[in-house]
Amino acid sequence: MKTDVLIIGAGLSGSTAGRLLAEKGHKVLIVERLKHIAGHCYDYRDEYGITVHKYGPHIFHTNNEKVWKFINNFGVFHYYQHRVLSYAEGGVVPFPINRTTLSKIFGRPFSSAEAEEKLREEIVNSNFNSPPENFKDTIISQVGERLYNLFYKNYTLKQWNTEPENIAADVAKRIPIRTNDDDRYFTDKYQGVPQHGYTKLVESILNHDNISILLGEDYFKIKKDINADMVIYTGELDKYFNYKYGDLQYRSLDLKMINYEKEYFQNAAVVNYPNDYDWTRITEFKYFLDEKSERTTVCFEYPRAKGEPYYVVMTKENLKKRRLYLDEARKLEKTENIYFIGRLAEYKYYNMDQVIEAVTDKIDTIESG
Ligand code: UDP
Repeated sequence: MKTDVLIIGAGLSGSTAGRLLAEKGHKVLIVERLKHIAGHCYDYRDEYGITVHKYGPHIFHTNNEKVWKFINNFGVFHYYQHRVLSYAEGGVVPFPINRTTLSKIFGRPFSSAEAEEKLREEIVNSNFNSPPENFKDTIISQVGERLYNLFYKNYTLKQWNTEPENIAADVAKRIPIRTNDDDRYFTDKYQGVPQHGYTKLVESILNHDNISILLGEDYFKIKKDINADMVIYTGELDKYFNYKYGDLQYRSLDLKMINYEKEYFQNAAVVNYPNDYDWTRITEFKYFLDEKSERTTVCFEYPRAKGEPYYVVMTKENLKKRRLYLDEARKLEKTENIYFIGRLAEYKYYNMDQVIEAVTDKIDTIESG
């Protein structure tokens, strides 16, 4: 089989790359291991009419106008501001920590200035390494030990199965700390969920005469049969190199979907469970698109070591191995016309908008080089 461009993976990174290259006139063949497009943002309507994110909750948010414009070419976005509660000390409070969270935990009202003062007091009375170089110290340096223990420590242990001091500070930077009343999970300028779902959105990205797709095919099994001038790889980085520097860890999830015979299950789209139960969080999908139904579908997330690779695990060891693999990948990019992009192929904790930005930049560089 002959094609101009071969793309491995029909997730958001592969699909975006495919579209950009197809629009530039290249014939693109996409080979996808799963039996569907859209990778881990795949969603479907269940038998109760609720749009379910098969691989866990995905909320699109970005400050990048170019990315927002790009993605809006392929589907209408439903206005949605994500809100999360955390189950702590027997009740639910807003998360990330804001003024309301502090008032509920410390049992008295705070002005924003008092909330800041309270956090300073908590921090002063805490032990941590400064400058903070890991997840634990980064959080304690912002909220102190008590709140760290309440909201972060055990969630992080459950999610990553390692002590939070082994996790990179960058992971902590995903979560803001607030002393105002803003209870949104993200403050990006543009936020939403595709009105007709991510699968339809990606279908529309892929809907181009120059794009063909092979689903349910393992690239590593058929690679000798495909002849391509350019290859874009979005699969696992270590797998491409046959694990020569050792395995990179990925974190998976067991996602248990349950439909309940009641209108609502909980008071927010997502409730986190840092300290209780084996799951990390419960998502109630109908909130995303404000879907009306007498029943509701929720998803319990249980972190797992094995299974579909959803997350990269940002420990020192993994990041050191990543460097070795990535150096090799970047070398190949210069000599072999193969490019590595996306969460798995760059071993990077990208959000969806960051994937689109990275892919766009990469294609620009390739096409101008
Ligand atoms: N986190 C935490 N407590 C929470 C939520 C998140 O300690 O209630 C930490 C945890 O280590 C998690 C990380 O922050 O893995 C990033 O959280 P985010 O919500 O961005 O995770 P994702 O949605 O990507 O699973």
